[in-house]
Amino acid sequence: MEAEKNFKVVLLGEGCVGKTSIVLRYIQNTFNDKHLMTQHAGFFQKNINMAGKRVCLTIWDTAGQERFHALGPIYYRGSQGALVVYDITDNDSFIKAKNWIKELKAMLGNDIVLCIIGNKCDLEKTRVISLEEAEAYAASVGAKHYSTSAKLNKGVEELFLDLSKRMLSKNTTSTPGASNSASTSNRSERIPIVPESTETKESCCSK
Ligand code: GDP
Ligand code: MG
Repeated sequence: MEAEKNFKVVLLGEGCVGKTSIVLRYIQNTFNDKHLMTQHAGFFQKNINMAGKRVCLTIWDTAGQERFHALGPIYYRGSQGALVVYDITDNDSFIKAKNWIKELKAMLGNDIVLCIIGNKCDLEKTRVISLEEAEAYAASVGAKHYSTSAKLNKGVEELFLDLSKRMLSKNTTSTPGASNSASTSNRSERIPIVPESTETKESCCSK
């Protein structure tokens, strides 16, 4: 088995698009109908084996700071992958996703593997962002588009596997030593912007 690769992955996107749900589905295989406020703020770790390589993903989820437009470089700095999530039934969330992509590209250039994720694909009937539009946009910015349903467990595992594959191939083709991927293990810091609570909330997502 080859040496371990550590990757930092950040979740970005408007509140209520399902960021926390996606990561909880992936890590714990659970789903909650309620909006999970700051309960799970911080990061999650998952080890996977990929083609004989041990890969450790540190997946950062927000504490809901996106609601206050208070997520910035302190959050996504040093990440090798970004999951920019929108809700396929919510046009505003797609616009926000595009803004995040713009910011990430401006701040991190091409050093980061970009995933644009259309979540809640179980709500096909109320879809407002077509798959064609989203895929064309992703291609135009050098990102890849994925469709997921955290609720029905569709596309989530595939998303993280494909992301890991892309980060690995980027990592192995870049200059040895230039990688900043070795810094994410044994971290114990949490995102300090919003005090933690264990509140769960149903109302914030009703529009
Ligand atoms: P976050 O603010 O982006 O972290 O969003 P949450 O993960 O807290 O989810 C917001 C709301 O959307 C919650 O009520 C979830 O149950 C719901 N939700 C998340 N993923 C899905 C999904 O795939 N399908 C449906 N129908 N609802 C979802
Ligand atoms: Mg959340």
